[in-house]
Amino acid sequence: MMNASNQTSENRMAKLPSVDYLIQQSAEKFQSIYGLPELTKVIRLVLQEVRQTLLNEASTANFVDADYLQRIEKKLTQRAEKKVKAVLNLTGTVLHTNLGRAVLPKEAVDALTLAASEACILEYDLGEGKRGDRDQLIEELLCELTGAEAATVVNNNAAAVFLLLHALSEKKETIISRGELIEIGGSFRIPDIMKRAGAKLVEVGTTNRTHAKDFVEAITPKTAMIMKVHTSNYAVQGFTAHVEDDVLGRIATEHDISYVVDLGSGSLVDMSIYGLPKEPTPMDALQSGAHLVTFSGDKLLGGPQCGMIVGSRDLIHKIKKNPLKRMLRVSKLTLAALEAVLHLYRNPAKLPERLVVLGQLTRPRAEILTQTLRLVTSVRSIVETKGLTIDALEVMSQIGSGSLPVDLLPSCAIVISGGNKNSQKLVVRLEKLLRKSTVPVIGRMKDQQLILDLRCLREDQEEILIAAIHHAVLNLS
Ligand SMILES: *Cc1c(COP(=O)(O)O)cnc(C)c1O
Repeated sequence: MMNASNQTSENRMAKLPSVDYLIQQSAEKFQSIYGLPELTKVIRLVLQEVRQTLLNEASTANFVDADYLQRIEKKLTQRAEKKVKAVLNLTGTVLHTNLGRAVLPKEAVDALTLAASEACILEYDLGEGKRGDRDQLIEELLCELTGAEAATVVNNNAAAVFLLLHALSEKKETIISRGELIEIGGSFRIPDIMKRAGAKLVEVGTTNRTHAKDFVEAITPKTAMIMKVHTSNYAVQGFTAHVEDDVLGRIATEHDISYVVDLGSGSLVDMSIYGLPKEPTPMDALQSGAHLVTFSGDKLLGGPQCGMIVGSRDLIHKIKKNPLKRMLRVSKLTLAALEAVLHLYRNPAKLPERLVVLGQLTRPRAEILTQTLRLVTSVRSIVETKGLTIDALEVMSQIGSGSLPVDLLPSCAIVISGGNKNSQKLVVRLEKLLRKSTVPVIGRMKDQQLILDLRCLREDQEEILIAAIHHAVLNLS
């Protein structure tokens, strides 16, 4: 009798089952879940793959019905998997832009679920029974928390800066210190944004030092505003000078122009009350003389992606009349989540407990160390089977997203390393396997060591991490 592997590939190709046959075989199990069009598509893809395998003369593969069904099932599940999925952020960067920045508190998740699943108040004035303004949902709260007269919300802080420049400085000059002409990342460069917004950039001072008279001398009849950009992602140290908000605010007011501050990561409370580095708040900036302040919703504030502009009523009114505001407006989901987060700020004492981001940032090293030691103990033996070393290591976490750039938080990490070239290669592969886990585990490589900073690992996620490490190590070769 001829062995399947001795048949020519054409021979075996001729025996490929038909699409209809495979539909018959699999419909009962899959059709009601995935639908006929998807099942048919997947069967075609599987047949294509099998044909490709058989075309390869060297292939000795022989396929029976069960093989097809298994491949069909695997492909169906793979295709049904969502690209947006939860990961374990063990990078050591709390507000990781590539991992979605702030994790929302339960209150915000509930609010956005409600807004998503029901008709809800968005631009509707209940008293009058007619059209309202969506900013009104959060304006009062924002004003209360920042001391501003008025507020508006757009898609993100980059949009807030853009809109503000377009509304107030189109064809007019904006004066800014050379030390603040920054790039935030994701191609947000202040000079480019200004150009696109139609504002004319007037640079003053030098990279490290700018003085009050630099601003005063640059003011002309075409000047619309002085702008200050919080240098979020770097620090100028040493022989430096910058002009304080109160001075710039006074200069602007005296010359009948605006003074606006892009804070980037604006927290609504003084972070130092939680033992974190002090970061200027929108309230501080407004009190010391800024006419407008912009800041992000998903950085230190700990809410959904959005950008706030708060400050003078007249200026906000002008900004809201700009047609770009309509393009940059936020959805009901964002507003619902933002409102819920803002409510939490009314009780600062409870904030670290409720606001996920603040809880992560204030988590003491001692607690992270205990957790790290516990986890090292539970995975040590499996990791050591591959000749790798595992330990607890004191590390420093970052806040991220350009917040408090030079300040680091004492944390603790699982560190996995290899003693020789070969086992170092295993560590590199382990990092990759962990990224491909069912729940991807994202750590970082440093000096050929895999570092898993546990600051953002909740207790209920520990089992997931243990399972992922087990699975990855077993697949390591
Ligand atoms: C982060 C940041 C931005 C951009 O904010 P997004 O919310 O990411 O759009 C703008 N300016 C400063 C100073 C920032 O730190």
